[in-house]
Amino acid sequence: MTFCVALGGNPNAGKTTLFNALTGSRQHVGNYPGVTVDRKEGRYVRNGHEMHIVDLPGTYSLTAYSVEEVVARDFLVNERPQVTINIVDSSNLERNLYLTIQFLELGIPTCVALNMIDVARSRGVEIDDKKLSHLLGVPVVPIIARNGFGTKDLMDAVDKVGQLPAKAPLRVSYGRDLETAIQEMQKLIEQRQFLTDLYPSRWLAIKYLESDTQILDKGREADTELADRLEDITHAVGAHIEETLETYPEAMIADHRYGFISSLLKQGVVKERHDKNRLFLSDRIDKVLVNRFAGPIIMLLVLMVLYQFVFTYSEVPVGWCERAFEWLADLVSTTMPDGLLKSLIVSGVIDGVGGVLGFVPLILFMFFGIAILEDSGYLARVAFMLDRIFQMFGLHGSSVMAYIVSGGIAGGCAVPGVMATRTLRSPKERIATLLTAPFMNCGAKLPVFALLIAAFFPSQQARMMFILTLISWGGALLAAKFLRMTVLRGASTPFVMELPPYRLPTLRGLLIHTWERTWQYVKKAGTVILGISVLLWAAMTFPQLPDETVQSYDAKKQSILAAADPAVINSIDNADSGDKREPLSAPAAQLKADLVAVDAQQARDALRYSLAGRIGTGIESLTHLAGFDWRTNIALLGGFAAKEVIVSTLGTAYSLGAVDAEATGSLSDRLTGEPGWSALKAWSMIIFVMFYAPCFVTIVCISRESSWRWGLFSMLFNTFLAFFLALIIYQTGLAIGY
Ligand code: GDP
Ligand code: MG
Repeated sequence: MTFCVALGGNPNAGKTTLFNALTGSRQHVGNYPGVTVDRKEGRYVRNGHEMHIVDLPGTYSLTAYSVEEVVARDFLVNERPQVTINIVDSSNLERNLYLTIQFLELGIPTCVALNMIDVARSRGVEIDDKKLSHLLGVPVVPIIARNGFGTKDLMDAVDKVGQLPAKAPLRVSYGRDLETAIQEMQKLIEQRQFLTDLYPSRWLAIKYLESDTQILDKGREADTELADRLEDITHAVGAHIEETLETYPEAMIADHRYGFISSLLKQGVVKERHDKNRLFLSDRIDKVLVNRFAGPIIMLLVLMVLYQFVFTYSEVPVGWCERAFEWLADLVSTTMPDGLLKSLIVSGVIDGVGGVLGFVPLILFMFFGIAILEDSGYLARVAFMLDRIFQMFGLHGSSVMAYIVSGGIAGGCAVPGVMATRTLRSPKERIATLLTAPFMNCGAKLPVFALLIAAFFPSQQARMMFILTLISWGGALLAAKFLRMTVLRGASTPFVMELPPYRLPTLRGLLIHTWERTWQYVKKAGTVILGISVLLWAAMTFPQLPDETVQSYDAKKQSILAAADPAVINSIDNADSGDKREPLSAPAAQLKADLVAVDAQQARDALRYSLAGRIGTGIESLTHLAGFDWRTNIALLGGFAAKEVIVSTLGTAYSLGAVDAEATGSLSDRLTGEPGWSALKAWSMIIFVMFYAPCFVTIVCISRESSWRWGLFSMLFNTFLAFFLALIIYQTGLAIGY
């Protein structure tokens, strides 16, 4: 088989010059079939073996806009040259790399020839070819085609690439909206093996988004039904992008390719760029925002402002939500007769779902803030700046996004966070990210922390929240490092994250993006959490206390009532039925409290008697090592389903009856007074809650984004890790007498 080498590059990059230098007189000029584009071929002999060299038409891109582009592309795809030399004009690197990216996306074996380095040098531009080669993952050889400098090295590299097995195509990330569509299309394409004999599936999906006429035609011919579906997806995402970002997929794709190049060049590939006047606006903004010193400070400020914004402005609507659910629970409580059905509706359905929906405003504000950062292009810069730290822990700059969305700024949600990992290129870094992102402090963990902080660290609430944020980041990074050193061992991918140009977000776009993520969270409340909270309710209700026990509680209440003054009983009844604001007399209040105490005692006993109570008690001998008694256990078991249920379950377990948001204060008072509780136990529980199994919905998401094995792994690994940490904290605390 002849060894075929194609020469591709922008017009005037020096293809013909190199071609002539390599082939000398052994040339042949013909035509590509059907078109009047020259097809120049020649021979190059190296160490006795021959290479067949083809000079492709010069193009700036590999779309199907011009005949040249189609010819070049078809040649690469149909004739599969062993190696393609991508000849690049070094004095115009940024623009030339645009084509390079497309060669690499096509997944063809490529060697980059950095031509005209003499011109680049004379303009004061020095290119670090080693670095560029490392970041692109292909050989990069500086040459001067006109005098033959470097051509031998180039051909050595070409020979080497020809021997190597083919590499996976380069993955440029095109932003959340397009990525979602690309991945959906890619799945369909792979299922039906649609044109995959010629093209990589991802590349095909991207061509659909670019409305590439040639691929659209070929697609309709190959599989009309699938082609229709792909075109539908293209139109849908096109409309969506038009609506949210006021642009269209092709432009976004170009933006992200240039963003990728811009990020490449910002990592020291080009030294001493003297051509300052060529800086675009985005580059100028980046001079400040990504500045080595000012950048991190600005980033911290921006994140702090976001934090303030979210927590300050969401307080009021969160209150509305909570009151709405309280009102609903009240309504059902007063209108329905006592019994199991009422208990199911109030405790199982309203409390369960309300606990989740109560956070919707907070989540909404959170995601609105993140949407501003993301749509404006700033979030990509945050990732860019944090990449160095993330690399140390075996992660990638793009992991930052998943962490932040999951609750890296306390109050996110791991469900969209796990989905945000889609932008990561390397599978191992991606899995390490999606396994550790749930360690962040999501909106559902916050009430647990708030409760324990209010109870045991009342004077330093803000500081504690800040410390907990740091702990979760530290823990997540260390866990990621651990995973990357063990089950996910492997080299890190060089950091090239798209730095697309800044753009002014539109309100409409922000609202839609906010809503998409919030909706993922709401759906969870409507479906999974509803089912789970009903199951939990059943586990905490059945089996019911035996009749004798119930009767003995009734008898206790009767005897309290019998001992009381009938006038006092009357005044309570009147107060209940009439104007509630009328204060009770002291003896009446006392009587009422006594009765409530009996009820609460009964609820607690019933909980202990229930299935959940039995499990909680059963594992007490193990969990007490970390300071958890059976009541804490029940609450934490409930948290496997959703962290939202921890606080409400604690309330029941501590005989407070149903705990609503307003009663959280009384629960924290209660915990402070409980003999089993201490600041040490609070620490142990906080750490456990921070690190143990992600909620059920997150596990489902992790499984869907990777595999069931990783979903199961995250549940077990996180729980063991959390228990281990809690145990160490508790035992160390006891030993040093904290
Ligand atoms: P093509 O359009 O890619 O085939 O480019 P050509 O081979 O026709 O080259 C375009 C121009 O660049 C010609 O004037 C070449 O002489 C010049 N050129 C090519 N390579 C080099 C180089 O390495 N250094 C310098 N200074 N000029 C070069
Ligand atoms: Mg030419």
